[in-house]
Amino acid sequence: MIQFQEVTKVYPNGVHALKKINLQISTGEFILIIGESGAGKSTLNKLITREEKLTGGELVVNGINVSTIKDKKIPQLRRSIGMVFQDFRLLSKMTVYENVAFAQETIGVPINLIRDNVYHSLKMVGLESKANDFPKELAGGEQQRVAIARAIVNHPKMIIADEPTGNLDSKNAWEIMKVFESINKLGTTVIMTTHNKEFIEHSNKRVILIGNGSILHDHQRKVRTS
Ligand code: ADP
Repeated sequence: MIQFQEVTKVYPNGVHALKKINLQISTGEFILIIGESGAGKSTLNKLITREEKLTGGELVVNGINVSTIKDKKIPQLRRSIGMVFQDFRLLSKMTVYENVAFAQETIGVPINLIRDNVYHSLKMVGLESKANDFPKELAGGEQQRVAIARAIVNHPKMIIADEPTGNLDSKNAWEIMKVFESINKLGTTVIMTTHNKEFIEHSNKRVILIGNGSILHDHQRKVRTS
């Protein structure tokens, strides 16, 4: 769960990037964050991961008070969050398998468990047959699916996806959305920044519109049951 209470971020140059944000995101939600460039979307994400420090208010993420967090607790916070980026950020000299396994190695998972975990994650994104390929041998949509496998392999409580379909065509974008939906169905919270109008109009998600550092709109769509 994430709770923003009157959260403010003023950068050292005096820019008020976020102004008294109040926002609650419950465990298991799937949220789209939208807004023009410069609205404050990345800053919101960076406060959650503690890449940036808030300058006012209180922020609690997955039970950790990020407003007062000690440096030595930041790795624990970050382990609870999987990150996915627009430009995939895969390591080009490593295979698909190695890219995903690397995330497990960095947190010290015993070597005998890594193989099963990696294949399980690759299966979740439909890419177990590409384990030995290198990123450049894959299409863009496939590379993003590898990045998603890497983001989920350590079982984070939530995924933050920053414009994950920005480099993909409409068909591939929807395939990525379907992968996130299947992960979300298993209980992982998903927070996705997007400009994709089709997602905003047709994916039935809670949409939060940020503008000029404030929440302008927070719209919870109801899934039709009839
Ligand atoms: P978005 O992700 O919606 O495009 P950002 O959160 O990146 O918006 O930016 C919000 C505002 O904060 C903008 O005015 C931007 O110029 C400013 N900003 C972002 N990062 C920094 C920084 N490191 N230092 C100073 N100003 C910044």
